[in-house]
Amino acid sequence: MRALYFDGELRLRELPEPRPGPGEALIRVQLAGVCRTDLEVLKGYHGFTGVPGHEFVGEVAEAPDPAWRGRRVVGEINVSCGHCRRCRTGLARHCAARRVLGLRGLDGAWAEYLVLPMANLVAVPEGLAEEAAVFAEPLAAALAAAEAGGAGGSTRALVIGDGVLGLLTSWVLALTGAEVHLAGHYREHLGLGERYGVQGFLEGELPAGEYDLVVEASGSPGGLTLALERIRPQGTVVLKSTFQGEVGLPPAGLVVPEVRLVGSRCGPLAAALRLLARGWLDPRPLIEAVVPLSAGPAGPERARQPGSLRVLVDCHG
Ligand SMILES: [Zn+2]
Ligand SMILES: [Zn+2]
Repeated sequence: MRALYFDGELRLRELPEPRPGPGEALIRVQLAGVCRTDLEVLKGYHGFTGVPGHEFVGEVAEAPDPAWRGRRVVGEINVSCGHCRRCRTGLARHCAARRVLGLRGLDGAWAEYLVLPMANLVAVPEGLAEEAAVFAEPLAAALAAAEAGGAGGSTRALVIGDGVLGLLTSWVLALTGAEVHLAGHYREHLGLGERYGVQGFLEGELPAGEYDLVVEASGSPGGLTLALERIRPQGTVVLKSTFQGEVGLPPAGLVVPEVRLVGSRCGPLAAALRLLARGWLDPRPLIEAVVPLSAGPAGPERARQPGSLRVLVDCHG
């Protein structure tokens, strides 16, 4: 099969089709996303060698239960050991021995085929377009951020960062009834939340005032500084950025105002698919381009352009 393979350099290669083990499915990938985490992988930061890509929608080609064959699916990206203490106490996503699709010890979605355990698969509802379903993973992460922040109708929230994750998070927060401001750098991105009631502002033009909840999804160290400037005492800051590097954090900035600082990673895929299937969120305006797998590294390169939204790889194109 054809796949994009990374070993310090990203190249289109011919690889053997992966073989599913017991309890696993072979999935024919339809579309795969290129997200900021993948771009970090391509800088070598995760020490990953193999096929990158963790956001996908595909069709089950082989499964232990034949009823699954031909069904469209998305997949939980963490493959845990299943028997350690964390796995047994509801923390499987934090299993120390976990493999993560396209990120850690497991070939990912920038390929014609991938393999995942059946337990990781979530069926895509009938009628939901693949171009929307491929956003299930980042949308689930946005739902997790809203949940970690305890958002609700009386919340005044600020999302920092107008990339795909920031935009999706601002939309999800708005669906809870919260008043939501989005701070970013691209006027055309800031307008994408209008239909959900999200007010967008260039970072320097944010109105005065404090927020009950700030979600930091800017992917840059300055985001946390802004978050701590704007959070109210005893408010919650949710961190979503996973860039390499350090943030200088004066402890008094957290201690004195008694701010809660929460990290947040993956979220509930089934809930994300429900929102998409109901049509409450339509992520398709976030598609920057669809690039065929045959174009090799051109897709990820396009995603690296400043201000790029989601580039999708058409894995059979
Ligand atoms: Zn991602
Ligand atoms: Zn485990």
